[in-house]
Amino acid sequence: MTTTLFSRARGSLLGLALGDALGMPTQSMSPSTIAGTYGTVTGLLPAVAEQPIAPGMPAGSVTDDTEQAFVFADLLITGRTEPPQIAAALADWEDRMRAKGSLDLLGPSTRRAIQAVRDGVPATETGRTGTTNGAAMRIAPVGIVCPPENPSRLLDTVERLSLVTHNTGIALSGAAAVAGAISAGLDGAGVPDAIEYGLARAAEASTRGHWVAAADVAARTAAGIRETAGLDTPRVTAFLRERIGTSLLTQESVPAALILTVRFADAPWQALLQAANLGGDTDTIGAMCGAVLGACGAEFPAAESAQVLARNALPLDATVRGLLGLRERG
Ligand SMILES: [Mg+2]
Repeated sequence: MTTTLFSRARGSLLGLALGDALGMPTQSMSPSTIAGTYGTVTGLLPAVAEQPIAPGMPAGSVTDDTEQAFVFADLLITGRTEPPQIAAALADWEDRMRAKGSLDLLGPSTRRAIQAVRDGVPATETGRTGTTNGAAMRIAPVGIVCPPENPSRLLDTVERLSLVTHNTGIALSGAAAVAGAISAGLDGAGVPDAIEYGLARAAEASTRGHWVAAADVAARTAAGIRETAGLDTPRVTAFLRERIGTSLLTQESVPAALILTVRFADAPWQALLQAANLGGDTDTIGAMCGAVLGACGAEFPAAESAQVLARNALPLDATVRGLLGLRERG
């Protein structure tokens, strides 16, 4: 395994954790509440006691996005990718969160799907209403495992890991966009080419799973990239809030993350700070943006990177080695 491949894969998971931790204190808040509570977020902050999902969490703490991405990495590395194994791993994760007193529990699609698995619903049906961004937020390990020369392996792996919770064209499309961009970035692509590759996979994935009425991730992202080219930062922020949206809907948060990635490709830390200040699903938008930027070789600040790794005891290097071993084995 080359040093570039290792450092890009490591950068992807690190970027995911950094974007997640920057958005932790602002997640699910409105832009005006964020501004009134924190001013402008310019670094890792602790969450205030009133934070609805992570009250009082220390600065640098990651959330469900990073934790579930590492759960998925472990499932891939240990070869446990059957739907019941995935459902059990997600349910175990939630049990651990609840035991810690955390309010950061499973999202709406995953919660419904795990109950359906317990009720004996077949695996192809448990995720039929899963349209939110849970599939995309935890899919980064698939982009690390699957090289871009084999797009069908990438799509099949996205679908295998996601179908138990998110077996819809829209959710699979969002996950394929993120995994595809990471896959191409690890192979040496710059941000524009990586996003183009990811959007091609998103278009293919949109025909998989159950159909639901939703805007198209690839078309919506491509239009947003065109419309934000050359806009100054306040106009990009306004565009994302007003025209794309920052909710946990796949067709809002995935395009928002990828548009930020392209617009701030040369200023990765700025991209993640923009995500933290957007409002809505800030941590997930930041996590997806950071994962793609890191895969494309972005450098993140050393002090904040060390802080996040220390705060969360993430097994980063061992996880990267395990995932890249799978990538090389084919
Ligand atoms: Mg989160």
